[in-house]
Amino acid sequence: MIAELISVGTELLMGQIVDTNSQWLSQQLSAMGIDVYYKETVGDNPKRMRDTIEMAIRRSDIVITTGGLGPTEDDITKETVAELMGEPLALHQESLDALERYFAGRGRPMADINRKQAMMPVNGITLPNHRGTAPGCIIEKDGKRAVVLPGPPSEMKHMFTTSVVPYLESISDSVLRSAYVRVAEIGESTVAEMLGELIHNQTNPTLATYASTGDVTVRITAKCKKGENASAILDPMVQRVQEILGDNVYTVKGEPLPTVIAQLLTEHQKTLALAESCTGGMVTSMLVDVPGCSAFLKEGLVTYSNEAKARLLGVPMALIEEKGAVSQEVAQEMASRVRENAGADFGLAITGIAGPEGETPEKPVGLVYIGVSSPSGTQVFQVNFSRNNRASNRLGAAQRALNLLRKKILADLT
Ligand code: ATP
Ligand code: MG
Repeated sequence: MIAELISVGTELLMGQIVDTNSQWLSQQLSAMGIDVYYKETVGDNPKRMRDTIEMAIRRSDIVITTGGLGPTEDDITKETVAELMGEPLALHQESLDALERYFAGRGRPMADINRKQAMMPVNGITLPNHRGTAPGCIIEKDGKRAVVLPGPPSEMKHMFTTSVVPYLESISDSVLRSAYVRVAEIGESTVAEMLGELIHNQTNPTLATYASTGDVTVRITAKCKKGENASAILDPMVQRVQEILGDNVYTVKGEPLPTVIAQLLTEHQKTLALAESCTGGMVTSMLVDVPGCSAFLKEGLVTYSNEAKARLLGVPMALIEEKGAVSQEVAQEMASRVRENAGADFGLAITGIAGPEGETPEKPVGLVYIGVSSPSGTQVFQVNFSRNNRASNRLGAAQRALNLLRKKILADLT
């Protein structure tokens, strides 16, 4: 099955908003084994929209549009798709009721123009919108399928996951199941090299790698007939990949590193305190993104200046002056002192030169010391990111710090 994505919106063409919908949909479809051959963006001009959708229906099996389902005159995506598919629209009572409930729930009367949003394809499938007003729909005709989704990403994603995915699975005789093995500290090319033989000989399951700063995901996808046990195909490959990549694998379930750490600490009822310099609170913020972090997170201090490292943590000023703020000794003091001061089980400290300025012949940009402390001792790791890019040095340092903390927790607790 070949899919084609059409993002509707004049704001997209003008660069006022970024088209994240088609990126997200592409990822979802490729994970389901559906190829996307074309993507377009079109504004609300009727002729250009018509031409674009017409061409898409001609050359692809599934056309998915997002946007242009609003109540106003220039929201014409659904009308255009229905017309091109030769499908009449009629008032859909259930959708109208849902719209009325939506407005009543917000203490507002529904405007008459919103009735347009409840005009649905007579022979199509109506997709309820649990996150907003406009329902979506699916129209089938002569082996072609058009899926019409709302523009706001939260509405679109929810509708896709709850209604479109089961639909796509129902029209296919096979299903795809994926496992996501995530690994820190090793770059994408090294991961690809380590898995070279598996990637080269892949049939079923297939393997693909995706990288972001300090983090690589290996997607393992098994294709099987409906009702067949996907785990039997998937699990042995997940295990092989895990064995090859070693202890930098932090999950085989796809969740991000901060979530893994949150689970470890919460499960063992241990607490954490952080002292960050060059990462400026980024590591703390990544942990605070995880719901329920109050169970383990005691405090995260941003001790940027030397004076703050002395005053808030108690690192001796003489030591900072002698060794420098970016040093093994200062990282060690920061980690053990923040842990002791907070009465936490683990302490994590990061101090480094994010760049682009501030380097010396002995201390280049990208040099970072990460201290990890617990009652079993304090270790300091020196990392050199050597990238002249402040943002990626900071993110790389944050990811590395989290992984070193994860290893320390595992070493102490298991
Ligand atoms: P509404 O009923 O809210 O008007 P709609 O289906 O008509 O929904 P649009 O008006 O096209 O959708 O878009 C509404 C908002 O959704 C946009 O202002 C934008 O914030 C977001 N949006 C739309 N399309 C995209 C896209 N392709 N990528 C990311 N965001 C988008
Ligand atoms: Mg709109």
